[in-house]
Amino acid sequence: MTQQQAMFINIGERTNVTGSARFKKLIMNDEYDAALEVARQQVENGAQIIDVNMDEGLLDSKEAMVTFLNLIAAEPDIARVPIMIDSSKWDVIEAGLKCVAGKGIVNSISLKEGEEPFLAQARLIRAYGAAAVVMAFDETGQADTAERKIAICTRAYNLLTKNGFPPEDIIFDPNVFAVATGIEEHDNYGVDFIEACREIKRTLPHAKISGGVSNLSFSFRGNEPVREAMHSVFLYHAVQAGMDMGIVNAGQLTVYDDIPTELRDRVEDVILNRRTDGQGAERLLEIAVEFHGQSGTKRVKDESWKQLPVVERIEHALVHGINAQIVEDTEEARQLFDRPLQVIEGPLMDGMNRVGDLFGAGKMFLPQVVKSARVMKQAVAHLIPFIEAAAEASGEAAQKKGKILLATVKGDVHDIGKNIVGVVLQCNNYDVVDLGVMVPAAKILDAAIAEEADMVGLSGLITPSLDEMVYVAEEMKRRKFILPLLIGGATTSKLHTALRIDPAYENTVVHVLDASRAVGVVGQLLSKETRGDYSAGVSSEYETLRVNRRKGGGRAAVTLADARASKVKLDWRSYQPSVPTFLGTKTFAPFPLDELVDWIDWTPFFRTWELAGVYPKILDDAVVGEVARGLFRDAHAMLKKIVDEKWLEARGVIGFWPAQSNGAEDVNLFSADGRNEPLATLQFLRQQVHKSEGRSHLSLGDFVAPQDSGLTDYIGGFAVTTGHGIDAIVAEFEKNNDDYNSILLKALADRLAEAFAEKMHAMVRREYWGYAPDEAMDDTAIIREQYRGIRPAPGYPACPDHSQKPLLFSLLGAEQAAGISLTESHAMMPTAAVSGWYFGHPEASYFGIGRVELDQLEDYAARSEVSLDVARRRLSPVLSEEALEASKQAAA
Ligand code: SAH
Repeated sequence: MTQQQAMFINIGERTNVTGSARFKKLIMNDEYDAALEVARQQVENGAQIIDVNMDEGLLDSKEAMVTFLNLIAAEPDIARVPIMIDSSKWDVIEAGLKCVAGKGIVNSISLKEGEEPFLAQARLIRAYGAAAVVMAFDETGQADTAERKIAICTRAYNLLTKNGFPPEDIIFDPNVFAVATGIEEHDNYGVDFIEACREIKRTLPHAKISGGVSNLSFSFRGNEPVREAMHSVFLYHAVQAGMDMGIVNAGQLTVYDDIPTELRDRVEDVILNRRTDGQGAERLLEIAVEFHGQSGTKRVKDESWKQLPVVERIEHALVHGINAQIVEDTEEARQLFDRPLQVIEGPLMDGMNRVGDLFGAGKMFLPQVVKSARVMKQAVAHLIPFIEAAAEASGEAAQKKGKILLATVKGDVHDIGKNIVGVVLQCNNYDVVDLGVMVPAAKILDAAIAEEADMVGLSGLITPSLDEMVYVAEEMKRRKFILPLLIGGATTSKLHTALRIDPAYENTVVHVLDASRAVGVVGQLLSKETRGDYSAGVSSEYETLRVNRRKGGGRAAVTLADARASKVKLDWRSYQPSVPTFLGTKTFAPFPLDELVDWIDWTPFFRTWELAGVYPKILDDAVVGEVARGLFRDAHAMLKKIVDEKWLEARGVIGFWPAQSNGAEDVNLFSADGRNEPLATLQFLRQQVHKSEGRSHLSLGDFVAPQDSGLTDYIGGFAVTTGHGIDAIVAEFEKNNDDYNSILLKALADRLAEAFAEKMHAMVRREYWGYAPDEAMDDTAIIREQYRGIRPAPGYPACPDHSQKPLLFSLLGAEQAAGISLTESHAMMPTAAVSGWYFGHPEASYFGIGRVELDQLEDYAARSEVSLDVARRRLSPVLSEEALEASKQAAA
């Protein structure tokens, strides 16, 4: 089961007016911005699908669904997860299907009203390329027993597949019902569900299984520890039986192995209906009292493992990531075995296999795995000289499962995520060759041949890398490669991979969502048994995504002229721009590091390590709390050294300029003295997604006073870094095979750079621009950026055009002042750096440009005075498919 649990998909349910009173209130009051935050938080907290339900009597559900989904579509950090359109009204579902960008999921259809309407709805769903949740419900009612569940699902499956519905797009919901209710007929409901899962998986190929887990423990309302234990135990068994996804509160699950034994046994008695005396529920109630109002269990430090025989000590050290005495223990083991290689193939591999299994089963997390890998590497490093000496005699080498070549593409410096993927793969006994950052296509492909790699993995952080990946894929095709190509990194997505990279290369291309998925994907692709099916599955999924796009699955757009007509109209007559305390630039080099520590936003730090949850609550989280606390302790210990021993140096520069917009998307900047000739013109873009009546099509240009207002407004810019000095220390860690500390340092440098941007922004608002001298805010409000003014970063959703960065950098003199340079794709070096514009208008807010159409592309080319071809390359990550095609043809 190892991979299965890691693959379990969480569905977020808080964007549901019937399930959440708060969400309902927001929608009823038309507070869509706050409602969007609910969606965003779910994604940030680890939801991999979000369920949206607007079924409320007093609401125009259809209108609400459309408005909300269109807003989500303009927010890339939310729209990256699939949307489940949840409604009992068919017209709401259909309206919703028209709005989702990627693959939609309909929740739900069933045989409740017979076969005719069921198939009619399925046909429509299929036309949209969406998946469907199929409830185990027929003309006679909801299925309760395993037999009925299986019978209805089988009937639905046969009907659907016979009518051309792809089986992989069927998600059965076989109904989770409450157990231990005191009614005997309910006692077997847990078993019925689990049995049904097993049978559905066995007999209905490719179909998926979902369920709403919290129903199960309904009788224990108010006793959270017992409910959590019930959910964990239920999922433990249901996932093994084939359950793929479910509505659960991921932050509130206990690790199966951490549930106190007695409680777990009694819970298991109830869920598996194991007791013959019918006392299961009684006995659980009895013990439930003890757990009321209590949460989590504590572990004491146990040193007894040091008394174990050496082979077991090594395994213990690996599983617990303890490197304190690994070199001594490895040496002791070496003397025990005939040949040094046997230490690797024996105890070390055994230990790492356990780590791999525990990670796959969701019982270990990334920071622990990276620590385990450090133990492994340090042990191997000790053995290598001995193996090399012996290998000369016998020619042996340790057996690896396969070789993966990793590289960050040309122009990009993305590193941390790729490092983590590398470490995780190594832990699973793959050979990893990491070519580093900014690697040109030819070098990647030459190395793949020279190294006899089994697979190539590309990584990238910024949007221009998406095109570079397409180029690498084209080169692989031209050079007749057959190796699978893996795609990963922050701006990559399944949709982009399907639309643009996959068609460029004839062989397998797979988007890998995060490090925890990498092992599964690589394993599937390397095993002879699974390779074919797996590749075919991925490629048909990508084909479906493409077909949907071609069918106009994309969202409706408006012309640039219409979008401009509905720009944000601010009342400039009553507006008094604040005058900055200086014009031109001001340099801070060095800036005191110790003043940045308190400004760190920790939540993204945990996300880097794939620990889901919001700081500080994550430290008490039932599942990841303990690991999070350990990581947090290590982070603080290192931060102290970073500051005390001056490992890093912070440098920054800010600037302000008089500015006016041209009434559209351009903003002219003027020098401090005369302002007749613009010093520079910033070219922003405008949203073109179709919106409901009365909603504006935003552009950052709308937030600067237009020329015809007669006002002199201002705009600011900044570039800050905390990356100077990092390379030497990273090199030192890597020399010692210490990936854990190397990754930790990079992650902390990133955090400090973001903290610097936040602190600088506060100084700007309160002092240098000074429009909010008396601003008072707590940490949470600061982290949520609830202050007046924004600092949009070029390359991010409101201003996705990276090519504006050279202009920002030259205005600031950023290279000289702060030592930050730009690569050919406009990535910043050092990596731990942040830059952006300052907008001070109280109405200025973040948003996403979304898709840009051909008319705007042409307009952009004209006003930037570049050819259509250059403009297309600059905007390619945000162009609609139609605009991309049309502009390619125009250029050809
Ligand atoms: N506290 C976070 C801050 C970084 S994310 C951290 O420490 O990681 C938020 C920043 O990303 C914003 O300040 C802004 O610079 C940028 N950003 C967010 N949304 C944006 C958008 N829609 N357009 C442009 N920049 C955006």
